[in-house]
Amino acid sequence: MASSPDVIVIGAGVLGLCTAAELAARGHAVTVIDPGGPNASSIAAGMIAPALESLPEDVTADRAALLKRARDAWPGFAAAHGLTLRREGADWRGPDPEAALARLLDMGFEARLTPTGLTTSDDWRMEVAPALKALARTSGVTMVRGQVMRLTGDARRWRVEANDGRVWFSPTVVLATGAGEPVAGLPDSIASIVSAITPIRGQLTFVPTPTPSRVVRGAGVYAAPCEAGVVIGATMEPGRRDLEPDPEEARRQVAAGLALLDVTAEAGPTRVGIRGATADGLPLAGSSGEPGLHLALAPRRNGWLMGPLVAAITADGIEGRPPMADAAALDPLRFA
Ligand SMILES: Cc1cc2nc3c(=O)[nH]c(=O)nc-3n(C[C@H](O)[C@H](O)[C@H](O)COP(=O)(O)OP(=O)(O)OC[C@H]3O[C@@H](n4cnc5c(N)ncnc54)[C@H](O)[C@@H]3O)c2cc1C
Repeated sequence: MASSPDVIVIGAGVLGLCTAAELAARGHAVTVIDPGGPNASSIAAGMIAPALESLPEDVTADRAALLKRARDAWPGFAAAHGLTLRREGADWRGPDPEAALARLLDMGFEARLTPTGLTTSDDWRMEVAPALKALARTSGVTMVRGQVMRLTGDARRWRVEANDGRVWFSPTVVLATGAGEPVAGLPDSIASIVSAITPIRGQLTFVPTPTPSRVVRGAGVYAAPCEAGVVIGATMEPGRRDLEPDPEEARRQVAAGLALLDVTAEAGPTRVGIRGATADGLPLAGSSGEPGLHLALAPRRNGWLMGPLVAAITADGIEGRPPMADAAALDPLRFA
Protein backbone atom coordinates (compact mmCIF):
# COMPACT_ATOMS: atom_id res chain seq x y z
CA MET A 1 0.00 0.00 0.00
CA ALA A 2 1.23 3.51 -0.80
CA SER A 3 0.88 6.70 1.28
CA SER A 4 -2.30 8.44 2.46
CA PRO A 5 -2.15 12.10 1.37
CA ASP A 6 -4.70 14.74 2.39
CA VAL A 7 -5.83 15.04 -1.24
CA ILE A 8 -5.28 12.91 -4.34
CA VAL A 9 -5.59 14.65 -7.68
CA ILE A 10 -6.08 12.31 -10.65
CA GLY A 11 -4.69 13.95 -13.79
CA ALA A 12 -1.75 16.32 -14.31
CA GLY A 13 -3.16 18.68 -16.91
CA VAL A 14 -3.44 22.38 -16.22
CA LEU A 15 -6.59 21.91 -14.11
CA GLY A 16 -5.14 19.11 -12.00
CA LEU A 17 -1.82 20.86 -11.46
CA CYS A 18 -3.32 24.30 -10.73
CA THR A 19 -5.65 22.68 -8.20
CA ALA A 20 -2.82 20.68 -6.64
CA ALA A 21 -0.61 23.78 -6.38
CA GLU A 22 -3.43 25.86 -4.89
CA LEU A 23 -4.18 23.16 -2.29
CA ALA A 24 -0.49 22.77 -1.43
CA ALA A 25 -0.19 26.54 -0.98
CA ARG A 26 -3.07 26.28 1.48
CA GLY A 27 -1.15 23.69 3.48
CA HIS A 28 -2.50 20.38 2.17
CA ALA A 29 -0.31 17.38 1.29
CA VAL A 30 -1.30 16.56 -2.28
CA THR A 31 -0.47 13.57 -4.47
CA VAL A 32 -1.04 13.91 -8.23
CA ILE A 33 -1.34 10.67 -10.23
CA ASP A 34 -0.86 10.78 -14.00
CA PRO A 35 0.63 8.40 -16.57
CA GLY A 36 2.89 11.16 -17.99
CA GLY A 37 3.29 12.04 -21.66
CA PRO A 38 1.57 14.77 -23.65
CA ASN A 39 -1.94 15.95 -22.84
CA ALA A 40 -4.17 18.81 -24.04
CA SER A 41 -2.48 21.18 -21.60
CA SER A 42 1.06 20.42 -22.71
CA ILE A 43 0.38 20.96 -26.41
CA ALA A 44 -1.81 24.06 -25.97
CA ALA A 45 -0.84 27.56 -27.10
CA GLY A 46 -1.16 28.92 -23.55
CA MET A 47 -3.27 31.92 -24.48
CA ILE A 48 -5.08 33.58 -21.59
CA ALA A 49 -7.41 35.39 -23.88
CA PRO A 50 -10.68 36.68 -22.47
CA ALA A 51 -10.91 39.47 -25.08
CA LEU A 52 -10.38 37.66 -28.36
CA GLU A 53 -12.19 34.55 -27.04
CA SER A 54 -15.20 36.86 -26.63
CA LEU A 55 -15.23 38.06 -30.25
CA PRO A 56 -17.58 35.34 -31.59
CA GLU A 57 -21.18 36.58 -31.65
CA ASP A 58 -22.45 33.72 -29.49
CA VAL A 59 -20.35 34.81 -26.49
CA THR A 60 -22.58 36.80 -24.13
CA ALA A 61 -21.43 39.84 -22.15
CA ASP A 62 -21.85 37.80 -18.95
CA ARG A 63 -19.58 35.07 -20.33
CA ALA A 64 -17.00 37.65 -21.42
CA ALA A 65 -17.01 39.14 -17.93
CA LEU A 66 -16.51 35.68 -16.40
CA LEU A 67 -13.58 35.00 -18.74
CA LYS A 68 -12.06 38.31 -17.69
CA ARG A 69 -12.44 37.49 -13.99
CA ALA A 70 -10.82 34.11 -14.68
CA ARG A 71 -7.89 35.92 -16.26
CA ASP A 72 -7.71 38.24 -13.27
CA ALA A 73 -7.06 35.23 -11.05
CA TRP A 74 -3.74 34.76 -12.90
CA PRO A 75 -1.44 37.48 -11.53
CA GLY A 76 -1.76 36.38 -7.89
CA PHE A 77 -1.58 32.70 -8.83
CA ALA A 78 1.47 33.19 -11.07
CA ALA A 79 3.24 35.23 -8.38
CA ALA A 80 2.47 32.63 -5.70
CA HIS A 81 3.91 29.83 -7.83
CA GLY A 82 6.82 31.58 -9.52
CA LEU A 83 5.27 31.46 -13.01
CA THR A 84 6.08 34.07 -15.64
CA LEU A 85 2.84 35.63 -16.85
CA ARG A 86 3.31 37.27 -20.26
CA ARG A 87 1.09 40.31 -20.34
CA GLU A 88 1.90 41.03 -23.97
CA GLY A 89 -1.57 41.66 -25.39
CA ALA A 90 -2.71 40.21 -28.70
CA ASP A 91 -3.43 41.41 -32.22
CA TRP A 92 -6.52 40.71 -34.33
CA ARG A 93 -6.02 40.68 -38.09
CA GLY A 94 -9.37 39.20 -39.11
CA PRO A 95 -12.14 40.78 -41.16
CA ASP A 96 -13.98 43.95 -40.11
CA PRO A 97 -11.70 45.29 -37.36
CA GLU A 98 -14.07 48.23 -36.71
CA ALA A 99 -16.89 45.83 -35.80
CA ALA A 100 -14.48 43.77 -33.68
CA LEU A 101 -13.34 46.94 -31.91
CA ALA A 102 -16.92 48.03 -31.18
CA ARG A 103 -17.72 44.58 -29.76
CA LEU A 104 -14.65 44.45 -27.52
CA LEU A 105 -15.18 47.99 -26.20
CA ASP A 106 -18.87 47.19 -25.58
CA MET A 107 -17.86 44.24 -23.42
CA GLY A 108 -15.45 46.35 -21.40
CA PHE A 109 -12.16 45.28 -22.97
CA GLU A 110 -9.33 47.62 -23.90
CA ALA A 111 -8.68 47.65 -27.66
CA ARG A 112 -7.62 50.01 -30.41
CA LEU A 113 -7.30 49.96 -34.18
CA THR A 114 -3.90 49.45 -35.80
CA PRO A 115 -2.88 49.63 -39.48
CA THR A 116 -3.30 45.82 -39.72
CA GLY A 117 -6.42 45.32 -37.59
CA LEU A 118 -6.72 45.86 -33.86
CA THR A 119 -4.77 45.21 -30.72
CA THR A 120 -5.83 44.52 -27.14
CA SER A 121 -3.79 44.56 -23.96
CA ASP A 122 -6.37 42.34 -22.23
CA ASP A 123 -5.09 39.00 -23.58
CA TRP A 124 -2.07 37.41 -21.92
CA ARG A 125 -0.14 34.17 -22.25
CA MET A 126 1.82 31.46 -20.43
CA GLU A 127 4.62 29.28 -21.80
CA VAL A 128 2.94 25.96 -21.14
CA ALA A 129 5.90 23.60 -20.69
CA PRO A 130 7.75 25.61 -18.00
CA ALA A 131 4.47 26.39 -16.24
CA LEU A 132 3.43 22.73 -16.01
CA LYS A 133 6.91 21.80 -14.85
CA ALA A 134 6.94 24.48 -12.15
CA LEU A 135 3.47 23.55 -10.91
CA ALA A 136 4.45 19.88 -10.68
CA ARG A 137 7.40 20.91 -8.49
CA THR A 138 5.32 22.89 -6.02
CA SER A 139 6.35 22.20 -2.46
CA GLY A 140 3.71 19.95 -0.89
CA VAL A 141 2.84 18.29 -4.23
CA THR A 142 4.02 14.73 -4.86
CA MET A 143 3.89 13.56 -8.45
CA VAL A 144 3.30 9.86 -9.11
CA ARG A 145 3.36 8.11 -12.47
CA GLY A 146 0.37 5.84 -12.93
CA GLN A 147 -2.96 5.32 -14.58
CA VAL A 148 -5.83 5.13 -12.11
CA MET A 149 -7.89 2.06 -12.97
CA ARG A 150 -10.40 2.07 -10.14
CA LEU A 151 -11.79 4.62 -7.71
CA THR A 152 -14.12 3.44 -4.97
CA GLY A 153 -15.19 5.02 -1.73
CA ASP A 154 -17.44 5.15 1.26
CA ALA A 155 -18.29 8.08 3.49
CA ARG A 156 -14.83 7.99 5.14
CA ARG A 157 -12.27 7.64 2.38
CA TRP A 158 -11.58 6.93 -1.26
CA ARG A 159 -9.53 4.01 -2.48
CA VAL A 160 -7.50 4.80 -5.57
CA GLU A 161 -5.97 1.89 -7.47
CA ALA A 162 -3.39 2.24 -10.21
CA ASN A 163 -2.79 -0.05 -13.18
CA ASP A 164 0.26 -1.61 -11.52
CA GLY A 165 -1.66 -2.55 -8.37
CA ARG A 166 -0.51 0.33 -6.16
CA VAL A 167 -3.27 1.65 -3.90
CA TRP A 168 -3.75 4.99 -2.11
CA PHE A 169 -6.38 6.04 0.38
CA SER A 170 -7.53 9.59 0.93
CA PRO A 171 -10.61 11.32 2.29
CA THR A 172 -10.51 13.71 -0.66
CA VAL A 173 -10.05 13.08 -4.37
CA VAL A 174 -10.10 15.55 -7.26
CA LEU A 175 -10.94 14.08 -10.64
CA ALA A 176 -9.03 16.11 -13.23
CA THR A 177 -8.86 13.54 -16.01
CA GLY A 178 -9.45 15.88 -18.95
CA ALA A 179 -11.47 14.34 -21.75
CA GLY A 180 -10.68 10.83 -20.42
CA GLU A 181 -13.30 8.10 -20.01
CA PRO A 182 -14.85 7.72 -16.53
CA VAL A 183 -12.63 5.79 -14.15
CA ALA A 184 -14.11 2.39 -13.21
CA GLY A 185 -15.84 2.26 -9.85
CA LEU A 186 -17.14 5.85 -9.88
CA PRO A 187 -20.66 6.25 -8.51
CA ASP A 188 -23.15 6.15 -11.43
CA SER A 189 -24.13 9.81 -10.96
CA ILE A 190 -20.49 10.92 -11.38
CA ALA A 191 -19.77 8.49 -14.21
CA SER A 192 -22.69 9.99 -16.13
CA ILE A 193 -21.37 13.55 -15.58
CA VAL A 194 -17.97 12.47 -16.91
CA SER A 195 -19.51 10.53 -19.83
CA ALA A 196 -21.43 13.66 -20.87
CA ILE A 197 -18.16 15.53 -21.53
CA THR A 198 -17.66 15.98 -25.28
CA PRO A 199 -14.14 15.40 -26.61
CA ILE A 200 -12.99 18.11 -29.03
CA ARG A 201 -9.90 17.25 -31.04
CA GLY A 202 -7.51 20.11 -31.74
CA GLN A 203 -4.32 20.20 -33.73
CA LEU A 204 -1.64 22.83 -34.05
CA THR A 205 1.73 23.01 -35.75
CA PHE A 206 5.03 24.38 -34.52
CA VAL A 207 6.86 26.60 -37.02
CA PRO A 208 10.42 27.78 -36.35
CA THR A 209 10.19 31.47 -37.29
CA PRO A 210 11.45 34.56 -35.52
CA THR A 211 9.17 34.68 -32.47
CA PRO A 212 6.54 37.44 -32.74
CA SER A 213 6.15 39.78 -29.80
CA ARG A 214 2.56 38.71 -29.13
CA VAL A 215 -0.24 36.41 -30.28
CA VAL A 216 -1.69 37.27 -33.69
CA ARG A 217 -5.18 36.01 -34.46
CA GLY A 218 -7.41 35.98 -37.52
CA ALA A 219 -10.64 34.25 -38.53
CA GLY A 220 -10.25 30.59 -37.54
CA VAL A 221 -6.49 30.70 -37.04
CA TYR A 222 -3.87 32.05 -34.64
CA ALA A 223 -0.10 32.23 -34.42
CA ALA A 224 1.10 32.22 -30.83
CA PRO A 225 4.70 32.83 -29.73
CA CYS A 226 6.50 29.89 -28.18
CA GLU A 227 10.07 28.99 -27.49
CA ALA A 228 11.99 29.28 -30.82
CA GLY A 229 9.02 30.11 -33.02
CA VAL A 230 5.25 30.03 -33.17
CA VAL A 231 2.47 27.51 -32.83
CA ILE A 232 -0.24 27.86 -35.46
CA GLY A 233 -3.64 26.47 -34.62
CA ALA A 234 -6.03 25.20 -33.86
CA THR A 235 -8.79 22.94 -35.15
CA MET A 236 -12.01 22.34 -33.19
CA GLU A 237 -13.29 18.85 -34.05
CA PRO A 238 -16.07 17.77 -31.67
CA GLY A 239 -16.59 14.06 -31.11
CA ARG A 240 -13.06 13.04 -32.12
CA ARG A 241 -10.42 11.50 -29.85
CA ASP A 242 -7.95 10.28 -32.49
CA LEU A 243 -4.44 11.65 -32.01
CA GLU A 244 -2.95 11.16 -35.48
CA PRO A 245 -2.10 14.57 -37.07
CA ASP A 246 -3.89 15.42 -40.33
CA PRO A 247 -1.11 16.70 -42.65
CA GLU A 248 -3.50 18.27 -45.18
CA GLU A 249 -5.23 20.29 -42.45
CA ALA A 250 -1.83 21.23 -41.01
CA ARG A 251 -0.70 22.58 -44.39
CA ARG A 252 -3.86 24.71 -44.68
CA GLN A 253 -3.50 25.99 -41.12
CA VAL A 254 0.19 26.82 -41.43
CA ALA A 255 -0.38 28.69 -44.71
CA ALA A 256 -3.13 30.77 -43.06
CA GLY A 257 -1.03 31.41 -39.96
CA LEU A 258 2.08 32.46 -41.87
CA ALA A 259 -0.07 34.75 -44.02
CA LEU A 260 -1.29 36.41 -40.81
CA LEU A 261 2.31 37.04 -39.79
CA ASP A 262 3.37 37.88 -43.34
CA VAL A 263 6.40 35.56 -43.21
CA THR A 264 7.47 32.37 -44.96
CA ALA A 265 8.89 29.36 -43.10
CA GLU A 266 8.95 25.57 -43.12
CA ALA A 267 6.48 23.86 -40.81
CA GLY A 268 7.73 21.76 -37.90
CA PRO A 269 5.84 19.02 -36.07
CA THR A 270 2.05 18.95 -35.75
CA ARG A 271 0.55 18.01 -32.39
CA VAL A 272 -2.93 16.92 -31.42
CA GLY A 273 -4.75 17.24 -28.10
CA ILE A 274 -8.24 16.41 -26.91
CA ARG A 275 -10.15 19.07 -25.01
CA GLY A 276 -13.13 18.15 -22.85
CA ALA A 277 -16.25 20.32 -23.05
CA THR A 278 -19.57 20.57 -21.24
CA ALA A 279 -22.87 21.58 -22.87
CA ASP A 280 -22.41 25.25 -21.89
CA GLY A 281 -18.67 25.40 -22.60
CA LEU A 282 -17.71 26.15 -18.99
CA PRO A 283 -15.71 23.77 -16.80
CA LEU A 284 -16.96 21.62 -13.94
CA ALA A 285 -15.31 22.81 -10.73
CA GLY A 286 -16.19 21.86 -7.18
CA SER A 287 -17.96 19.15 -5.23
CA SER A 288 -19.45 16.25 -7.18
CA GLY A 289 -22.13 15.77 -4.58
CA GLU A 290 -20.38 12.58 -3.34
CA PRO A 291 -18.58 13.26 -0.03
CA GLY A 292 -14.89 13.95 -0.64
CA LEU A 293 -15.07 13.67 -4.43
CA HIS A 294 -14.44 16.90 -6.35
CA LEU A 295 -14.26 17.65 -10.06
CA ALA A 296 -11.95 19.93 -12.07
CA LEU A 297 -12.87 19.04 -15.63
CA ALA A 298 -13.84 20.13 -19.13
CA PRO A 299 -12.72 23.74 -19.70
CA ARG A 300 -13.13 23.33 -23.50
CA ARG A 301 -10.68 25.64 -25.31
CA ASN A 302 -9.94 27.77 -22.24
CA GLY A 303 -8.20 25.45 -19.81
CA TRP A 304 -5.21 27.74 -19.39
CA LEU A 305 -7.38 30.81 -19.01
CA MET A 306 -9.59 29.08 -16.41
CA GLY A 307 -6.89 27.18 -14.46
CA PRO A 308 -6.45 29.39 -11.36
CA LEU A 309 -10.18 30.13 -11.04
CA VAL A 310 -11.06 26.41 -11.24
CA ALA A 311 -8.30 25.73 -8.69
CA ALA A 312 -9.62 28.33 -6.23
CA ILE A 313 -13.22 27.16 -6.54
CA THR A 314 -12.23 23.50 -6.15
CA ALA A 315 -9.97 24.21 -3.17
CA ASP A 316 -12.69 26.30 -1.50
CA GLY A 317 -15.10 23.36 -1.94
CA ILE A 318 -12.61 20.95 -0.39
CA GLU A 319 -12.05 23.25 2.59
CA GLY A 320 -15.76 23.91 3.05
CA ARG A 321 -15.33 27.64 2.56
CA PRO A 322 -18.26 29.74 1.36
CA PRO A 323 -18.27 29.52 -2.45
CA MET A 324 -17.09 32.56 -4.38
CA ALA A 325 -19.61 34.20 -6.70
CA ASP A 326 -18.36 32.43 -9.86
CA ALA A 327 -18.65 28.97 -8.27
CA ALA A 328 -22.32 28.67 -9.28
CA ALA A 329 -21.53 29.02 -13.00
CA LEU A 330 -19.01 26.18 -12.73
CA ASP A 331 -21.03 23.95 -10.36
CA PRO A 332 -20.56 20.33 -11.52
CA LEU A 333 -24.22 19.62 -10.67
CA ARG A 334 -25.68 22.48 -12.77
CA PHE A 335 -26.91 20.12 -15.52
CA ALA A 336 -28.57 17.62 -13.12
C1 LIG B 1 -4.52 22.50 -29.92
C2 LIG B 1 -4.99 23.10 -28.63
C3 LIG B 1 -4.68 24.42 -28.30
C4 LIG B 1 -5.14 24.99 -27.12
N1 LIG B 1 -4.80 26.28 -26.81
C5 LIG B 1 -5.27 26.82 -25.66
C6 LIG B 1 -4.93 28.15 -25.30
O1 LIG B 1 -4.17 28.82 -25.99
N2 LIG B 1 -5.44 28.68 -24.15
C7 LIG B 1 -6.29 27.94 -23.34
O2 LIG B 1 -6.75 28.46 -22.33
N3 LIG B 1 -6.60 26.66 -23.64
C8 LIG B 1 -6.12 26.11 -24.78
N4 LIG B 1 -6.46 24.83 -25.11
C9 LIG B 1 -7.39 24.11 -24.24
C10 LIG B 1 -6.67 23.55 -23.07
O3 LIG B 1 -5.51 22.92 -23.51
C11 LIG B 1 -7.55 22.54 -22.36
O4 LIG B 1 -8.75 23.18 -22.01
C12 LIG B 1 -6.85 22.09 -21.09
O5 LIG B 1 -5.58 21.64 -21.40
C13 LIG B 1 -7.59 20.97 -20.41
O6 LIG B 1 -6.88 20.68 -19.24
P1 LIG B 1 -7.25 19.44 -18.34
O7 LIG B 1 -6.37 19.50 -17.17
O8 LIG B 1 -8.73 19.40 -18.14
O9 LIG B 1 -6.96 18.16 -19.27
P2 LIG B 1 -5.61 17.51 -19.84
O10 LIG B 1 -4.59 18.51 -20.13
O11 LIG B 1 -6.05 16.61 -20.93
O12 LIG B 1 -5.08 16.64 -18.62
C14 LIG B 1 -5.78 15.53 -18.14
C15 LIG B 1 -4.76 14.55 -17.60
O13 LIG B 1 -5.45 13.50 -16.92
C16 LIG B 1 -4.77 12.29 -17.17
N5 LIG B 1 -5.66 11.17 -16.94
C17 LIG B 1 -6.80 10.82 -17.58
N6 LIG B 1 -7.31 9.71 -17.08
C18 LIG B 1 -6.48 9.33 -16.07
C19 LIG B 1 -6.47 8.24 -15.16
N7 LIG B 1 -7.43 7.29 -15.17
N8 LIG B 1 -5.45 8.15 -14.27
C20 LIG B 1 -4.48 9.09 -14.22
N9 LIG B 1 -4.45 10.15 -15.06
C21 LIG B 1 -5.43 10.26 -15.96
C22 LIG B 1 -4.36 12.42 -18.62
O14 LIG B 1 -3.30 11.52 -18.93
C23 LIG B 1 -3.92 13.88 -18.69
O15 LIG B 1 -2.55 14.02 -18.41
C24 LIG B 1 -5.97 24.22 -26.26
C25 LIG B 1 -6.24 22.88 -26.56
C26 LIG B 1 -5.76 22.31 -27.72
C27 LIG B 1 -6.06 20.87 -28.01
